[in-house]
Amino acid sequence: MERNTKLNRSIKGRRALVTGAASGMGRATALLFADEGAHVAVTDLDPLKVQAVVDQIIAAGGSAVGHRLDVTNASERRAVVADMVARWGGIDILVNNAGIALETTIDAPDFEERWRRTFDVLITAQALLIRDCLPQLLQSDAPRIVNIASTEGLGATKGISPYTAAKTGVIGLTRSLAVELGTRGITVNCICPGPINTGMTAEISADAKKEFARRRVALRRYGEPEEVAQMTLSLVLPAASFVTGVALPVDGGLTIRNA
Ligand code: NAD
Repeated sequence: MERNTKLNRSIKGRRALVTGAASGMGRATALLFADEGAHVAVTDLDPLKVQAVVDQIIAAGGSAVGHRLDVTNASERRAVVADMVARWGGIDILVNNAGIALETTIDAPDFEERWRRTFDVLITAQALLIRDCLPQLLQSDAPRIVNIASTEGLGATKGISPYTAAKTGVIGLTRSLAVELGTRGITVNCICPGPINTGMTAEISADAKKEFARRRVALRRYGEPEEVAQMTLSLVLPAASFVTGVALPVDGGLTIRNA
């Protein structure tokens, strides 16, 4: 059948780098992108967990390579970029997903250490990995960046001020780079996940999750990692060509619910 429309809703053959891809939303994103025909660089701290995701993709007939990548490590970041260039000839998609959630109060002895670590991982590394990928993204015909922020960047919870400040910063970074890189054809967006069932929330009891969802979430439940990954996919499609600088809540209605 002939098509009456022009824009492409496929990422088949696109080359994607996903950080923090051994668990949770990053893993779901890597699996989904591979299901959709992309070449996926699966990266995370633990090589064995990375390999398990790569094996799952390969077993399903997809294309993936695994790397140990601590996003705060400059030489590891550059090695992943160099390998993608050597292997696949470039990079079209970057998903800055890796994250940690460290609790601390403003008067706690460990505050400064936790503040610095949080900022290093959650925001500085996002900016620096964008810098590392930029020469390759500039050569792509549909370059896409998605940064994972949080609903914690749109509101606040006590006891995690470094996390809240860094995620608010991710939204600012996204907006500023959307304006700056818009002149060069790159879209930069962020997703603000609400409460999602991942490694990060695994220690919260089922009862506490249920109660939180009942009180706060319009859809009355935690989300699943794939539900976030599907929205990330929407933002990296070649067809998502006129969306940039958005902070998209994927939160079951957490941020719009007053009562
Ligand atoms: P997760 O713990 O399941 O996965 C996070 C991954 O990031 C882990 O595999 C971890 O090893 C990796 N990581 C941590 N530090 C790293 C580093 N220095 N370099 C590379 N990788 C590193 O958690 P998740 O919920 O899937 O987290 C993904 C993103 O979503 C994070 O940015 C997180 O802040 C954000 N987020 C999570 C929720 C939630 O409810 N789970 C809500 C909003 C935002």
